[in-house]
Amino acid sequence: MSYVDQIISQVTEKNPAEPEFHQAVREVLESIRPVIEQNEEKFKKDALLERLTNPERQIKFRVPWVDDNGNVQVNTGYRVQFNSAIGPYKGGLRLHPSVNLGIIKFLGFEQIFKNSLTGLPIGGGKGGSDFDPKGKSDREVMAFCQSFMTELSKYIGADTDVPAGDIGTGAREIGFMFGQYKRLRGVFEGVLTGKGLSFGGSLARTEATGYGLLYIVDELLRSHGGDIKGKTVVVSGAGNVAIYAIEKAQQLGAKVVTCSDSTGWVYDPDGIDVAALKEIKEVKRARLTEYKNYRPNSEYHEGRGVWQIKADIALPCATQNELGIEDAKALVANKVIAVAEGANMPTTEEATKYLQDNGVFFIPGKAANAGGVATSALEMSQNSERLSWSFEEVDKQLKGIMEGIYHNIDDAAKRYGYEDNFVVGANIAGFEKVLDAMNAQGIV
Ligand code: GLU
Repeated sequence: MSYVDQIISQVTEKNPAEPEFHQAVREVLESIRPVIEQNEEKFKKDALLERLTNPERQIKFRVPWVDDNGNVQVNTGYRVQFNSAIGPYKGGLRLHPSVNLGIIKFLGFEQIFKNSLTGLPIGGGKGGSDFDPKGKSDREVMAFCQSFMTELSKYIGADTDVPAGDIGTGAREIGFMFGQYKRLRGVFEGVLTGKGLSFGGSLARTEATGYGLLYIVDELLRSHGGDIKGKTVVVSGAGNVAIYAIEKAQQLGAKVVTCSDSTGWVYDPDGIDVAALKEIKEVKRARLTEYKNYRPNSEYHEGRGVWQIKADIALPCATQNELGIEDAKALVANKVIAVAEGANMPTTEEATKYLQDNGVFFIPGKAANAGGVATSALEMSQNSERLSWSFEEVDKQLKGIMEGIYHNIDDAAKRYGYEDNFVVGANIAGFEKVLDAMNAQGIV
């Protein structure tokens, strides 16, 4: 059995009941197979893949807090510090009822390669909790965040591990967590990114993941003799990534006709009204059923359905495994040109393969949504030099980073004979830098 196959089966066996983690490991290891095979004996002797797939540290803790009725609630908190070969651990905190160790490990593993692709010095980590901020009062969210940070603060710091937002963790949650960290540790430092602008946050961080997604898609199309202008786009999700992806797509002259949340989806043939979407989701924290009040010409449907709508570009921006084989078949039948992942691993393995086999350009999340964490790293730089850059400066750097990622993954794919396979390209390019750093640092 080859070294890669041996590790894939070992990871599956040793981490039972963690299907998303197995999926992420399989995807990366299958892609880097050609790199491993060039030096199989040495890598095996060094247990390189064992070290790569075992987190440096994983922390699991109790998070007790008191709800508005005076009852004590207990959630579970996690921080997986996966790999620090190229920099301090960096990655978001997901607050969602579906969170468990396997989900955080899959996200932390992906983050290693994503962060490497940004070209910036950040290692891979991820954390979160099964706490659901939906429907909670501000006071309840604060109580949770303070309790969560009371434990997490022991393990993080501006030079060791710098968490940020993810699903369920936005500006409000980051503010509460930052306040508690400062109170406990007595230091004002860049320990979290995605902070408010009045206390060390970076301009353009809020927009960065969605904007970055469109910058890389535009670069892909330009490199193949087209551009995004005039294209029809379907987007899933209605959170931070989706909102700013829609905004940038429209700025670049595309028409976005869908978005979705956990209960339903919207089709707006005239193009999604971003101002209305921001008000519904960012201000009112309400459901998409409200959208029709702003745009009578639009349709609201219960359940799932955005991938059935005819479009040139599809951008899954909701959550993992939301785009399956039937969705991929519908997209191909409707002649989609490109699919780029705004969320982390939103496309199933089967759907990814189907899209690629049918000539659809597919950019995986670790490249396509890296603009968020890249801008977090720019926030860290600003915090270190105690300066704030202008929106234009950060946005310009973000655009340059995304264009750089596109060419980096394109080159890596070509070097190994996989032209236009951006899954292979992203995994190899991300892995090469981590491999170099791990080799240089000895057996640690
Ligand atoms: N949660 C985001 C991601 O998946 C951002 C992480 C960060 O900014 O550290 O990359």
